[in-house]
Amino acid sequence: MPENILIAIAWPYANAEIHVGNITGSHLPGDIVARYHRLKGNKVLMVSGTDSHGTPVTLAADKEGKPVEEVYKRYHDGFIELFQGFGITYDLFTTTHTENHFKVSQAMFLALKQNGYLFTQFSKQWYSPSSKRFLPDRYVEGTCYICGFESARSDQCDNCGNVLEPEKLINPRSKEGGALELRETEHFYLDLSKLEPDVKQFLRERAKHMRDTVIGESLRKIESEGLKPRSITRDLDWGIPVPLEGWEGKRLYVWIEAVVGYLSAAIEWSQLSDAALSESKGEKARVEPSRNDAWLEWWANPASKHFYFQGKDNIFFHTSMWPAELMGAGEQFFEIFSPSPALTPNPSPAGRGAKLTLPYDVPANQFMNLEGQKISGSRNWAVWGLDALTRYDPDALRYYLTVNMPEAKDSDWDWAEFVARNNNELVATWGNLANRVLAFCYKNWDGHVPDVDVSTLRPADRNLLAVIENGFATVGAELEAVRLRSALGETMKLATAVNQYLDVNAPWTAIKTDKASAALTVYTALKAIDSLKVMFSPFLPFTSEKLHSFFGYETPLFGEQYVEEIKDSLGTHTGLRYRVGQVGDLPYWKPSELKPGQKLNLPGPLFKKLEESVIDEERARLGK
Ligand SMILES: [Zn+2]
Repeated sequence: MPENILIAIAWPYANAEIHVGNITGSHLPGDIVARYHRLKGNKVLMVSGTDSHGTPVTLAADKEGKPVEEVYKRYHDGFIELFQGFGITYDLFTTTHTENHFKVSQAMFLALKQNGYLFTQFSKQWYSPSSKRFLPDRYVEGTCYICGFESARSDQCDNCGNVLEPEKLINPRSKEGGALELRETEHFYLDLSKLEPDVKQFLRERAKHMRDTVIGESLRKIESEGLKPRSITRDLDWGIPVPLEGWEGKRLYVWIEAVVGYLSAAIEWSQLSDAALSESKGEKARVEPSRNDAWLEWWANPASKHFYFQGKDNIFFHTSMWPAELMGAGEQFFEIFSPSPALTPNPSPAGRGAKLTLPYDVPANQFMNLEGQKISGSRNWAVWGLDALTRYDPDALRYYLTVNMPEAKDSDWDWAEFVARNNNELVATWGNLANRVLAFCYKNWDGHVPDVDVSTLRPADRNLLAVIENGFATVGAELEAVRLRSALGETMKLATAVNQYLDVNAPWTAIKTDKASAALTVYTALKAIDSLKVMFSPFLPFTSEKLHSFFGYETPLFGEQYVEEIKDSLGTHTGLRYRVGQVGDLPYWKPSELKPGQKLNLPGPLFKKLEESVIDEERARLGK
């Protein structure tokens, strides 16, 4: 039975470009796991989008003196270009500024309210008399009254991680300049304390398979400090309106609505898929919203597995806040939210008592540094994703970002190591292995796999193939547990085993005296490489696809990415999509069944060796 796998990746804020730390932190690990599950024949839905609301975005727009909409769209387009370049195969990468996301977030809010998890309270917030508005969180900075950090936000300190009360901030100052005064304002709060026992229970059930760093950050924090109510609305004019009369001018706070994106993007995806499906059958795309409940297979299905990829700064939101929202909204969400009321006689498409699926794993990564220092966009101490793609192949970048992934502790991008690992591992161990065996075979067996009788394979041949075959289980287990460094390391070890087999059996020499024996060796090595290609493919999709075509296969390993313009009442937004279609993503995760005599295509090199001079050139770019 195929499993339903949701790959949910942290939503990037539309106020900065994406660098290698972001890629290795969430987008790349999510893509590797998604590709693996697709190859296994599981039903994968991989979603994320641009976080276009919130004060980081409005501040960026203010700084540029441009409309927020224009600024968020520019970053969004850049993200989509980057994900295509790196092969990050989102089924849907959308934005939070869509009609659908508004509706879903408002339904979550109403469900939480109906279930008694929201209350209102007056509090003091910083107000700017000159611009006649409240200045939320990032608009006001001051000294943290807990740790003394001088650039704390008014609602949270990024140094000690504590939630702050705005009125206690020391030396508050407005980012806009001008005077500040405290004024009373009313807001909604999510009563997390009521949900604390459920969140604890949820975390305890997952403690065994969640990373120690993640559980430590979450469960032990709740046990020592408890979950306290948090305000979930703000006085802002950009974002999602509070869906209640008398609350005009207030918006849902970004932390409560951005996480809802994992759910809303799945719903948007199922509506789009339906339209695409009817078009492909030669019918006209439906004009009215289609009643497609495909998202329920992931979101109202306790057996579906949800993986949340992000950096360590977001752990608490995904292990505690978001599960609390999901549990608090409960089945009322399905009753309140209906993607197309006109076509829905039964208000709860999920059925009675359905629950929103909770996270299965939150494989959050630590941080990646750069040449021994923290990555910093403002100092240009960064390797920017789109810029790196102009000089390096995506698989070379993906390889280094995986072997160096900060899974258990912070890691460091080092240009000397990047060059060394590219040349010694990717090129020497794997690329040369595939290329020299294929080229040797193509030349000496007239463009075909040697037409051997497989019953005559020798013990050493069978032994190698058994070792490789076993890799599907061992590498697969590591991928399922999201231990990606180890999974890639195991695969590289298998490539080394094939190199050792070739050193012993040396078909390049044997062919001169015993072509039949050389044919057995070449067939065995090709079959091993054909299997390794599949094991490497979640990590190195571009070169694996290329290698796959050298073998003469006509059905590709993977589907394709494409961009779609999506219209709704808020305007038009661009979605990055992934087409599985009839081809690609077949259940390829199994040992090669390479046929003797199969016709090959002319092979070529898979990777490029890098010059040592790259190291100094790249280091010279930093901090400029
Ligand atoms: Zn602090």
